[in-house]
Amino acid sequence: MGNIRMSESELLIGFEEALEKDYIFVCYQPKINHTTGRMIGAEALMRWKDPENGMQYPSDFIPVLEKNTLIPKADLHVFEDVCKFQRKCLDENIPAVPISFNMSRYDIFHSDYVGKIEKIRQQYQIPVKLLHIEITESSAIGGSELVSKVLNHLHVLGYVVEMDDFGSGYSSLNVLKDLDVDVIKLDMRFLSGGIGGRGGMIISSVIQMSKWLDTPVIAEGVETAEQADFMKSIGCTYIQGYLYSKPLPEQEFIEKLRQIQHEPVSKAINLIESMDAGRFWNPQSLETLIFNHYVGGAAIFTYQDGKLTILRVNQKYQTELGMNLCEKEILKADPWDGFDEHNKAVYEKTIKKAIQSHDEESCETWRTVCSKICGEDRICIRTDLRLIGRAGEEYIFYAMVRNITSEKKRYAELAESERRFRFASEQVNIYAWEYEFSSRIMHPCFRCMRDLNVPPVVENYPEPLFDSGLFPMDYYDSYHEMLRKIETGEVDSIEAVIPLSVARIPFHVRYTLERDENGKPLKAYGSAAMVVDTPEHSENQEK
Ligand code: C2E
Ligand code: CA
Ligand code: CA
Repeated sequence: MGNIRMSESELLIGFEEALEKDYIFVCYQPKINHTTGRMIGAEALMRWKDPENGMQYPSDFIPVLEKNTLIPKADLHVFEDVCKFQRKCLDENIPAVPISFNMSRYDIFHSDYVGKIEKIRQQYQIPVKLLHIEITESSAIGGSELVSKVLNHLHVLGYVVEMDDFGSGYSSLNVLKDLDVDVIKLDMRFLSGGIGGRGGMIISSVIQMSKWLDTPVIAEGVETAEQADFMKSIGCTYIQGYLYSKPLPEQEFIEKLRQIQHEPVSKAINLIESMDAGRFWNPQSLETLIFNHYVGGAAIFTYQDGKLTILRVNQKYQTELGMNLCEKEILKADPWDGFDEHNKAVYEKTIKKAIQSHDEESCETWRTVCSKICGEDRICIRTDLRLIGRAGEEYIFYAMVRNITSEKKRYAELAESERRFRFASEQVNIYAWEYEFSSRIMHPCFRCMRDLNVPPVVENYPEPLFDSGLFPMDYYDSYHEMLRKIETGEVDSIEAVIPLSVARIPFHVRYTLERDENGKPLKAYGSAAMVVDTPEHSENQEK
């Protein structure tokens, strides 16, 4: 049977009978957490299947019902169906999820509409948390005082209120600021330009703003995996759309409820301790004032699955980074840009430590920053991190930053010159040799031979070196005593300062013992390093 679109008068004449005979009924469309694949709820959508004309579409019949003040009656019918359905789930052990139903702006103006739904809910004894209410953004424009009142009333009763069709109106941002909604539904179909262009930018900023407002977002009308992945990439994991499921008749929806696991919607970000999200993001609040003026460079960012998103930076943050980057450039770029693998690992490790410790954790990392004005530079930032909130696997951090590039460079220069100095002195001053006990043979290093005239093989060590004058005679006894200690294995290493050569230049002479596999002393490695800058060791011949 094909569907024939009914005229306005046909709809009006058929309305009462359609309600009575359940030609008007409800389909359910799941809302899914794209990250976990679990169901977070469903939306009840009105359907009208006429026995003669077939399926009628909401976009056709709802405006007719609205125009003729029949919509409150139709919506109460839907609401009762939803309550009956939830009752069935509870009674028959079908896993229940919160189901949202649509409230038309005409319902808001209908006298005591909230009282009426409350009566139905109580009649079926449905826990209020299993029923959400969707109101459209446009209904909030205009008679906003009345809308606020109804919203308050619903909140007092415990209903979760979702703002439907966000992004379709002209004053979306103001509406969000003024109305206290619990969930935002962002309709992908309202976004011109697709996710690649302007549409993507708008969505990103809505998601970002929703985080500031502590309000979860559900993306509606998601048809492709590309759209879903994009939403996930900007931090929105809740989706509703044909990609997962079309609106389903009751029986099929029950199958879905049994197949798919469920989970509750988590708040966007739960700020830790006494930090109040509203005040924190309010440009006039004390918190903002402090953030902007009384701390050093600071940023707020989120971390999830290795991804960083900067939510907010203050003026001093921009100064610390240097390079004349403006806030927009900073927020737009991937914060990991400019980190090499090592520095990224250091930073991530610190993030994880801060998650574990709930305390301030610090790190120093190098990164490359680019700006249009200054080109490219490599800078070192000291970051003190503190976890200030979390929502599921998403963590929010407060970061204090300080640019320590010049300190680091100065330190590096010092270290480098020290390293060079030591290397040079080693080259000049260290002499080494090997002395085998059983044969009493000593093998000197090349420099011993070159600078000190030691022959390549010295037999009957150490006597020839006393004879040659390299070892001073007045150290004859103490030197033999030192060798005895090492040869007998009494010590494993020994050292003394000995003036060498006729010039009596003081050297640190050191022996290290090598034993055989039975522990018997085998040979010793000797070394002599010139004593640098220690006058108390230098012996003066004239003295
Ligand atoms: P809505 O509240 O924005 O509902 C979502 C609409 O998007 C539904 O259309 C749904 O079938 C459709 N949709 C969901 N996923 C996709 C998708 O991936 N692609 C596309 N192209 N569409 C998708 P439906 O059921 O035709 O309802 C249209 C509108 O009629 C609703 O928009 C709502 O404003 C109104 N409506 C539906 N049921 C009720 C009701 O019980 N009471 C009232 N007052 N209005 C209702
Ligand atoms: Ca809706
Ligand atoms: Ca919608």
